[in-house]
Amino acid sequence: MPGTRALTSTDRVSAVVDLDAVAANTRLIRETAGTPVMAVVKADGFGHGLLPVTRAALEGGATWLGVTTLDEALELRRAGVPAPVLSWLHLPDEDFGTAIGEGVDLGVSSVEHLRSIVAAAGEAPARVHLKIDTGLSRNGAVADSWGELVDEAWRYETAGAVHVRGVWSHLHTAEDPETVPEQVRRFETALARAQRAGLRPTVRHLANSAAALTIPATRYDLVRAGIALYGVEPAHPGLRPAMTLRARAVQVKRVPAGTGVSYGHDHVTTRATTLVLVPLGFADGVPRLAGAHGAQVWFRGARHPVVGRIAMDQFVVDVGDTPAHVGDEIVLFGPGDEGEPTAVDWARWAGTNPHEILTGIGPRVPRHHHRSEGALP
Ligand SMILES: *Cc1c(COP(=O)(O)O)cnc(C)c1O
Repeated sequence: MPGTRALTSTDRVSAVVDLDAVAANTRLIRETAGTPVMAVVKADGFGHGLLPVTRAALEGGATWLGVTTLDEALELRRAGVPAPVLSWLHLPDEDFGTAIGEGVDLGVSSVEHLRSIVAAAGEAPARVHLKIDTGLSRNGAVADSWGELVDEAWRYETAGAVHVRGVWSHLHTAEDPETVPEQVRRFETALARAQRAGLRPTVRHLANSAAALTIPATRYDLVRAGIALYGVEPAHPGLRPAMTLRARAVQVKRVPAGTGVSYGHDHVTTRATTLVLVPLGFADGVPRLAGAHGAQVWFRGARHPVVGRIAMDQFVVDVGDTPAHVGDEIVLFGPGDEGEPTAVDWARWAGTNPHEILTGIGPRVPRHHHRSEGALP
């Protein structure tokens, strides 16, 4: 069965994470981009487990870590991870002093944001990466306020309060190369203005996974890779999906034709068949919508349909005449080696992206981390 190489546990449900894949994906991104790699490990390593994924990415050659919140950055420090970390989404009244003291780099989106950081900085200057909004319209300074931000940053830098280590942005569309040149042009304009202000950032960064792997003009000094670390996107023959989501059948029943299945009887069997009950539901991140849009699972070497509504804790699979027993393994998604569904398939069935599938896997699902030497604690 895919992803179960080292699976010895009798867990009812688990997300098995292949850390060799994370390390190899990191290596591939680094070699392809030809730049240093920031491993984006926000949201618990896209649901794969913050610390195991961080260590695997560092082993694979990542030299930076990227997270959203200060809490995520401090969790890395508490675990003894010394690598450079950038955190980028803050309210102005957060505890920047602790983060600066722990050597966390801060993404800065406005003059107000910068002043709060300066106010919290102690003896050592705060290391900041000024963010320009090149079209995403999320965080980052808009072009009109960029001049003020870089001039102010320069004043603080000369006063020894901050060190502007980076200038950066985030693409609104990386999959469509048509719109990228305009985003790069806006980034270049912002870089030139920062330079005129006197700043000399050594870490300019723009690319996410898709851009890092496919659009050389976006690579600059560093690429920020999230979904590609986990092997899921962009489509690339060298990337390997790291997570396998599996469960064991809690009940098996033979039913006659005309049997209604799950809430509302949206599904009624058309022949005598075998129904397998899987102990995962939407509370665990199995998207309810997917059930009505062709979701399938892998059972005994073949795909079988999810039937009836996916409930909070469980759903039903119609395995036809395939022999089935309580305790048998069902794979919801995996790397796809044997034909089992992938996270990309589930995203399609649920009308979402694989990021949401992976980060949505809930806390009731234990993560089991494996690498070639065997299971990690
Ligand atoms: C989440 C995130 C990334 C990672 O994007 P992927 O497309 O998953 O590689 C990179 N940069 C920023 C600012 C992000 O928020």
